[in-house]
Amino acid sequence: MVAEIISVGTELLLGQIVDTNAAYLGRTLAGLGVDLYYKSTVGDNEGRVLDTLSRARSRADLILTSGGLGPTEDDLTKECIAQVFGEDLVLHEPSLEELEAFFARRGVPMPPRNRKQALIYRHGRPIPNPNGTAPGALLEKDGVITISLPGPPNELIPMVENHVAPFLTERLSGTRQFLVTRVLRFIGIGESALEQEVLDLLHGTNPTLAPLAHTGEVHLRMGAKAASVEEAETLLAPLEEEIRRRAGRYLYGTNSTLLEDAVVTLLRERGLTAATAEGCTGGLLGGRLTQSDPAENVVLGGFVTPGPAALTGILGLSPELIDRHGIVSGPVAEAMADAARRRAGADIGVAITGQAGPDGGGARGLVLVGLAQSDRTTHSEHHCIGIRDTVRRRATQLALQQLREALLDV
Ligand code: AMP
Ligand code: MG
Repeated sequence: MVAEIISVGTELLLGQIVDTNAAYLGRTLAGLGVDLYYKSTVGDNEGRVLDTLSRARSRADLILTSGGLGPTEDDLTKECIAQVFGEDLVLHEPSLEELEAFFARRGVPMPPRNRKQALIYRHGRPIPNPNGTAPGALLEKDGVITISLPGPPNELIPMVENHVAPFLTERLSGTRQFLVTRVLRFIGIGESALEQEVLDLLHGTNPTLAPLAHTGEVHLRMGAKAASVEEAETLLAPLEEEIRRRAGRYLYGTNSTLLEDAVVTLLRERGLTAATAEGCTGGLLGGRLTQSDPAENVVLGGFVTPGPAALTGILGLSPELIDRHGIVSGPVAEAMADAARRRAGADIGVAITGQAGPDGGGARGLVLVGLAQSDRTTHSEHHCIGIRDTVRRRATQLALQQLREALLDV
């Protein structure tokens, strides 16, 4: 079964609201193993809604629309569907009664305009909506199932859960396919370098493999479809094994594992502890690690030292060192890491010092990451591009990456 989603609403085009319905419907369809090839957003304009519907009708078996079921003039989804499928809209008495009851419960008379919400296709049926006025509508014609859902997510989601998903599950029984996806998360390798490693694996159709870039890390999403979850997982296993063989050193976790969780796990496995010192990131690194290790088992503490006073006063760095090299320098990064390690009584110290840059686009931020262990201190230098928050996020990614690499070599 091939589906298509159409989100109707000018407010979506204007960016006044985010199309969360389409994302929810996409996830739901993926969970049901239904293929989704296109989703469109169209304003409240009859001609363009008709166009979008006609195109969907020509290439999908299932059309899901969201929005435009309201009582006003610009709510025209059902009217357009009726037109595209050569269907009549007729008054559905039980829906009208429910509408009247809905208003009665609120103690207000039903505005005459709302009658139009009880119009349903002659050969279709309504989908109950206990959370709002607009019932959904289902039409099955010329081999295409069209399901119209109301815009408000608190109405759409229960309708999908209680009616649409069970309806589709029944339809798909026997032919039902299960889509299983798995995300592999990499650090310390760029998107194109990783893509190069797996280039020949990117063209498969089942399983599929797709790279996704995030701030300071790259993911590969694997997907397989089969008649059962187990079969789909069996398709994924050799692909994952091959990817691990080629780029396993950079693979820090799967699915929703966070980099800080992976680093905390490594510390625990190695029986080591860590401490942080941060300038431009102001505690972001410590915050991420603490969230993964709230009980202070392996992350013993963190120092926030944005300037010379904190560096000398809190970490005990010598003013001469700072004067000689500047705050954003390799020697200061190393001294910060070593002081954090000693003061917290940890095995490893990790430090960030840098210029997070102005809060505008395109700025380059120089970031130094220092690492200290009992027998050696090192640092690395990075140029991060982006707005301040991006540079700060990248700086913590780099620090976690260095810490991870040090731990891998232990
Ligand atoms: P409508 O049914 O088009 O009149 O939409 C009613 C309300 O539902 C809108 O004002 C939005 O608050 C919400 N809404 C409509 N479409 C979407 C969508 N695609 N995603 C999230 N919310 C939506
Ligand atoms: Mg609307």
